[in-house]
Amino acid sequence: MTSFPAQARRVRDSTLAPQRRLSALRECTQHCAPYGFRATWHHLVVSACIPRKPVDDPDALVRAVDELQRVRDVVLPRAHEYARLRRREKLDGQRGKRSSPPWYSLGWSDIAYCPDPEHHPTAPLDTVVRAVLDRQAAGVNSDTHCLACGKERPRPGRACPTCGVHPAGLGARWYGGG
Ligand SMILES: [Zn+2]
Repeated sequence: MTSFPAQARRVRDSTLAPQRRLSALRECTQHCAPYGFRATWHHLVVSACIPRKPVDDPDALVRAVDELQRVRDVVLPRAHEYARLRRREKLDGQRGKRSSPPWYSLGWSDIAYCPDPEHHPTAPLDTVVRAVLDRQAAGVNSDTHCLACGKERPRPGRACPTCGVHPAGLGARWYGGG
């Protein structure tokens, strides 16, 4: 599997056929899908106005990859900070006390997993991801409150009726210890 930056370059490369650039955008979304692939893809199609035929508006693909890039800009510094913390803990002889944060193992896909691909937050992806990570860091309990929109959760274990984010996403599992 090729990396996000390599695929993102292809999306932005106007010398490539629009269909190839669209495939590269799909690959990027596989690397970075905060809502899970299907809901993230649906969000991008709506937010960047991707036409049915990419040749009709290739710039839409660039708008979409820019939005994904902003998610990486939110998560990467935190991932690096976490890696630094882990190294220090190892030096201090503390091992295995901390579970992995959501971005650690799967390229931070599913941070705000939405089981219904057409029911997901409408705000920009990076805004939602930042909100989830901030609420996690503040110790908000994902059983009682939605980490994405902050609303009280009437039924634990179900997708948020307001924004569609499910508490079983990787983001919520981090503090759940699973
Ligand atoms: Zn919500």
